[in-house]
Amino acid sequence: MLNIKSVYLDHAATTPVDPRVMEAMLPYFSEIYGNPSAIHSLGRAAEAAVEDARERVARVWNCQPGEVVFTSCGSESDNLALRGALLTARQEGRGQHLITTPIEHSAVSKTAHQLTDLLDFDVTVVPVDQHGRVDPAEVERAIRPDTALISIMYANNEVGTIQPIQALAALAHERGVLFHTDAVQAAGQLPLDVRALSVDLLAISAHKFYGPKGIGALYVREGVRLAPSQSGGGQEHGLRAGTHNVAFIVGLATALELAYADLESHNAHYRRLRDRLIEGVLASVPDSQLTGHPVERLPNNASFAFRHADGNALLMHLDLQGIAASSGSACKVGNPEPSGVLLSMGYEASWAGGGLRLTVGHQTTEEDIDYVLNTLPDAVARVRRLGAPQA
Ligand code: PLP
Repeated sequence: MLNIKSVYLDHAATTPVDPRVMEAMLPYFSEIYGNPSAIHSLGRAAEAAVEDARERVARVWNCQPGEVVFTSCGSESDNLALRGALLTARQEGRGQHLITTPIEHSAVSKTAHQLTDLLDFDVTVVPVDQHGRVDPAEVERAIRPDTALISIMYANNEVGTIQPIQALAALAHERGVLFHTDAVQAAGQLPLDVRALSVDLLAISAHKFYGPKGIGALYVREGVRLAPSQSGGGQEHGLRAGTHNVAFIVGLATALELAYADLESHNAHYRRLRDRLIEGVLASVPDSQLTGHPVERLPNNASFAFRHADGNALLMHLDLQGIAASSGSACKVGNPEPSGVLLSMGYEASWAGGGLRLTVGHQTTEEDIDYVLNTLPDAVARVRRLGAPQA
């Protein structure tokens, strides 16, 4: 069998679990296995681990431990924020209007659809510019007397664009509106001080920052009332019933602490590799563009559009060369839909069908980047030759 080099450039999809995180989690599977809601000492030991994890997350977020809610993933955190805030607002007669953007992850956009289609809420989707940035003035114009929530992501999962969250949250508060941000991609790269950001709700997911899959958290500012996402026992301040996943909660807190202990050195490593990728790709692939904001972008994200190239076919060609990447378009074989995010940013279909996202991580090396730069131009040329979706 040929020994093909293996290069993982899909860290925005998920990251490997840091061995230090795994080690911290292990005792909670079979040694300290009590139910944190139990009275006995094994239960109390598990509860202590959950509360210690809550305090550690709160330190990174600069909030009170009581403002940290553990969930099963980033999607659940977003669902709890949107549905929880809007159902409560309606119940309290504070309105039924949501403002969001066209480039949100489906955890937000599909929840917004459900709220309009099934539950009769109103949603305004404010546009983004060619770099994927929201104009706070557009958001301000969209605010109505019955606006209950604004939900705008901190950084985009596809093109890496960072939104002006502080300014957006400030204007929401001037008008008495709650502000939620999906920080799933931002966590591990951007500051998460919720007081400085001045957000009311903020969602994260551990598997994006070297923690395990299947555990997330939601910041809920003290005084913000939410309808529970899951009813049952009174866990997580009654917002999210279900026996705590102690090992994974410990894993999330440990991963978050580690990420923020070394934030600057990791980001410097990411930026060096990302910029080498961006320069190299734009110089070597004809008809290519950097997508997303040139400066206000995640340190680890290099994303591109290639004109008249099928993004999914390109991913398969890269995979054959040992390169794991993602496309902007729906990443399913046989589904050549152009990327909705790129279309919202004003790209024509001839470009939006050829999205490629390369996201670097802790273990990525310059040699990996050089391998991609040597492989990609031929792969794009081959995909174009084999037939691209024409606009
Ligand atoms: N929000 C964003 C921006 C994401 O990128 C993702 C995952 O890719 C999610 C939410 C969902 O997170 P999870 O996979 O933990 O449900």
